[in-house]
Amino acid sequence: MDLNAKIAALLRDFAAVQTSKLKMWGYRRAAAAVLALEEPIETLLQPDGTLRKTPNIGPSSSRIILEVLQTGTSATVEQTIAGSDQVVDVDRRRGLRGHFLSRSQVVAALKNRRLKGPRLADYRGDLQMHSTWSDGTQTLDDIVRTGIARGYQFCAVTDHSYGLPIARGVSMQRLFEQHRAIDRINARAGGTFRLLKGIEANIRADGSVDMTPGELRQLEVVVAAPHSGLRSAADQTARMIKAVATPGVHILGHPRGRKYGSRPGVSADWEQVFEAAARANVAVEIDGDPHRQDIDYDLAALAIHAGCLFALDSDAHSTAELSYAETAVAHARLAGVPPDRIVNCWPLDRLVEWLQAARTSG
Ligand SMILES: [Zn+2]
Repeated sequence: MDLNAKIAALLRDFAAVQTSKLKMWGYRRAAAAVLALEEPIETLLQPDGTLRKTPNIGPSSSRIILEVLQTGTSATVEQTIAGSDQVVDVDRRRGLRGHFLSRSQVVAALKNRRLKGPRLADYRGDLQMHSTWSDGTQTLDDIVRTGIARGYQFCAVTDHSYGLPIARGVSMQRLFEQHRAIDRINARAGGTFRLLKGIEANIRADGSVDMTPGELRQLEVVVAAPHSGLRSAADQTARMIKAVATPGVHILGHPRGRKYGSRPGVSADWEQVFEAAARANVAVEIDGDPHRQDIDYDLAALAIHAGCLFALDSDAHSTAELSYAETAVAHARLAGVPPDRIVNCWPLDRLVEWLQAARTSG
């Protein structure tokens, strides 16, 4: 039972039915603070029955938290929702929070020795992130510095492709400039760290990828990911199968495109999609962004059964977000993904060999 997740969800629901914007933001901040706690929320309880002071959790939020700790639910929240005009909307959002881990559950999964998946120490590098070249705030140098500090041997910078102007997608000309910058950085690193030249290509509605085969061959790491049709209930199995079968694609990025409490993502027969990915030697991603957690441990178990390779990535847009890779590792541990099937756990030469094989197969 992830009590942190349950309480954060109740605080989000309570935020949604506030008439004052100020109160709405207050409960939202409290919900985010609870989700980010490193420990189970019960540990905040003090002997006198009050809650230990925690940044961004004010007195009104504390009262809700105590109510849940004492009764298992919050009558205050439920009654306010029932008396509002948002019952249907709150219900819909509640259905979109399944299999999301709070930070405290991530920490617990990383520590739990009984789990058979990858250890954090097995994780050698991160293969999806964004830089100042598209919609990120981290420079290439920031990525290298933070990657080394995290004990990595490599990272792939995967800015958005030109097909996604909304995310400041990079033109091919800018991409070649970026490649020259990466070459200079790698020369300076002198073999201690390797920055890989990547892209996050967009999967169009018809399953094609928004770059030509020749363009894809210019890149060392191609993550293909859906950014549209993420609220549609229509079956999109064919779209996803076509995407993974595209020569030059290495990783199926955030396969569902779901967002915490907001959208369900792509509907598909995932068993068929994962089987197609396994056949094409394409890795299925576990995106560790806490709002994505895509795919989660349950679907990951299905992908193990289908014989898939896995990529565990942060999808970071800033250096602080590089720690999101830990959320992905936690899901892989809960699913029991064998480390040998995780491309981030391979030595760099094995990783590069696999990356090159996909580039030449097209
Ligand atoms: Zn994306």
